[in-house]
Amino acid sequence: MSENKFIGAHVSAAGGVEQAVARARSLKATAFALFTKNQRQWKAAALTTETIDNFRAACERYGYSSRQILPHDSYLINLGHPTHEGIEKSRAAFLDEMQRCEPLGLSLLNFHPGSHLQQIEEDECLARIADSINLALEKTRGVTAVIENTAGQGSNLGFCFEQLAAIIDRVEDKNRVGVCIDTCHAFAAGYDIRTASACADTFQQFADIVGFSYLRGMHLNDAKTDCGSRVDRHHSLAEGKIDKAAFAWIMADKRFDGIPMILETINPDIWPQEIAWLQALAAGKKTSATLAAS
Ligand SMILES: [Zn+2]
Ligand SMILES: [Zn+2]
Repeated sequence: MSENKFIGAHVSAAGGVEQAVARARSLKATAFALFTKNQRQWKAAALTTETIDNFRAACERYGYSSRQILPHDSYLINLGHPTHEGIEKSRAAFLDEMQRCEPLGLSLLNFHPGSHLQQIEEDECLARIADSINLALEKTRGVTAVIENTAGQGSNLGFCFEQLAAIIDRVEDKNRVGVCIDTCHAFAAGYDIRTASACADTFQQFADIVGFSYLRGMHLNDAKTDCGSRVDRHHSLAEGKIDKAAFAWIMADKRFDGIPMILETINPDIWPQEIAWLQALAAGKKTSATLAAS
């Protein structure tokens, strides 16, 4: 198993956040993602002391440190919302998400930047997103806001590296802002990663425009849709339009060391095989681990 690459999946937290830790363990994952509340609801009951203690104890028992865990916020939140009411609601919910991470000992919070809903200019929306991040960082400690690149579906921003850089540029505390690159979203947004040379090219652009120093996580997903389709449909590794070469290339590159790399692929039944395959690649082995379609 690679010492340097943390690999896992977005596991269910049904039954309580502490259950997610055991689920990750059962996959032989060295990283995991979770929702700390129902992702389709605005409100959630506060975490109890018992839940917090159980979560922390489970992480300790199974050896997951905060740099291996990438919680994801609610899908309802839009930090670039064009209306006053809409943005206030989203900012309150995002602050709550950050404040749920603090007692759990979680140091990263992954979120989708936001959407202009065709009501404001892109630049105005990016500025609103950055202000939203600044407000949340002011009121919290120890949690980094991790902006995920998007497929650019609808009016979602954050689909190109320039937009991620523009948000970061306006965030005051640069130590607590970062990005998570989702391979499916990048591909759908038009970044070709089908070959090793295409990967090298795309991630050189990332290095030049955003910088690897801001990379706090990866989402490893294949795509059902074409490069540049701007349609976000995840697929299992090696079953979609992104070649296996992309994942092999990432696993072999040290710039992706030390961050949670999370599968959000569509068939949880094969996560153990997907994780084992990635771990073998990370360890530099000509792997006997196989994937469904390989
Ligand atoms: Zn996401
Ligand atoms: Zn993702």
